Amino acid sequence: TNEFAFADDPFANMPKLRARLFANENPLGISKNAKEALIKATEIGNRYAWMEFAELKKLIATDDGVKAEQIMMSPGSSDVLMAAADYFAKGGGTILTSVMTYDDLLQRAEKFGAKIKAIPMTKDFKFDLPAIKAAITPDVKMVYIVNPNNPTGTIVPTAELEAFCREVAPKVPVFIDEAYIDFFEPADRPKFGKLVSEGLNVILARTFSKIHGFAGLRLGYAIAQPNMLKTLRDYTNGDFAVSITTLMAGIASYQDKEWQNHCRAENAKARAYTTKALTDLGYEVIPSSTNFILFPIRMKTAAFSNQMFGQGIGIQTRDFGGQPFCRVSVGTMDEMAIFVEGFKKVVG
Ligand code: PLP
Repeated sequence: TNEFAFADDPFANMPKLRARLFANENPLGISKNAKEALIKATEIGNRYAWMEFAELKKLIATDDGVKAEQIMMSPGSSDVLMAAADYFAKGGGTILTSVMTYDDLLQRAEKFGAKIKAIPMTKDFKFDLPAIKAAITPDVKMVYIVNPNNPTGTIVPTAELEAFCREVAPKVPVFIDEAYIDFFEPADRPKFGKLVSEGLNVILARTFSKIHGFAGLRLGYAIAQPNMLKTLRDYTNGDFAVSITTLMAGIASYQDKEWQNHCRAENAKARAYTTKALTDLGYEVIPSSTNFILFPIRMKTAAFSNQMFGQGIGIQTRDFGGQPFCRVSVGTMDEMAIFVEGFKKVVG
């Protein structure tokens, strides 16, 4: 029997993993300031969090050049994705997106009656914006773009996406899932808050789950037109779904630029190490702007996955157009060394 066999009960075996590289989490944890704020928050756990979410929204609004009423907090960005899925699926219609993208919103929308039209990617695994634009028909209710994309790790040129939004958003709402945007230095990030402040029907979804390490604490937010947020609030409790502990930790983490810079730099270092190791082994790695790497493998996904998990190395696999891929999250340098050593054993 295999000590890491995941087949019976994947969750029971999770703590035994030597390298937990399947969920794009932050391997370094939350900042010291966030921990202190969490503890402090326990003293006011009896109070509703009006002031705290107002404070966090003010900080975000300043950075993004939007108004506080154009922001809705949520317990992770998943909640925003689910609310949008429920709303846009209502009464049928189509959600337009790309193949090879994050499908939580899409699956949920499909469950509630939407059709999903997924356009092939460009050869370099990016959203094909001209092809998506050309596929807009009267039944399309929303366009879902993930930028940078999961699982490919790619980003579309900012000017191209901005032009796309200006052209498309007056007709069809454009939802941009920016879960991985924090892996860019603030100066290098697309500034799509300005599209919202100009009045365009663009919905941005962001999360604290990645650079801030809040995957378990649950914090995210949407930036959109106040009317759109009002509509989405029919499908989620929004601000009030977030606990005061998470909010106070979020305020501390948001202001802790040093910790974010540290996490970004460590991620870039471990990502470069892993990319080089895989490239040296003759594997073609899709250039990543995120905390995970996607690359084609030369064996079936189930066999690969079993052998990696069998060594205590958690990864994800995907099949796209008959081609198996491995998606490995960027962990610590130690975890990536374990991954590379385990990968070598599997592929010989
Ligand atoms: N969007 C994308 C593209 C993701 O990859 C994820 C999680 O991995 C999420 C949204 C949801 O994250 P959370 O609900 O933790 O904010």
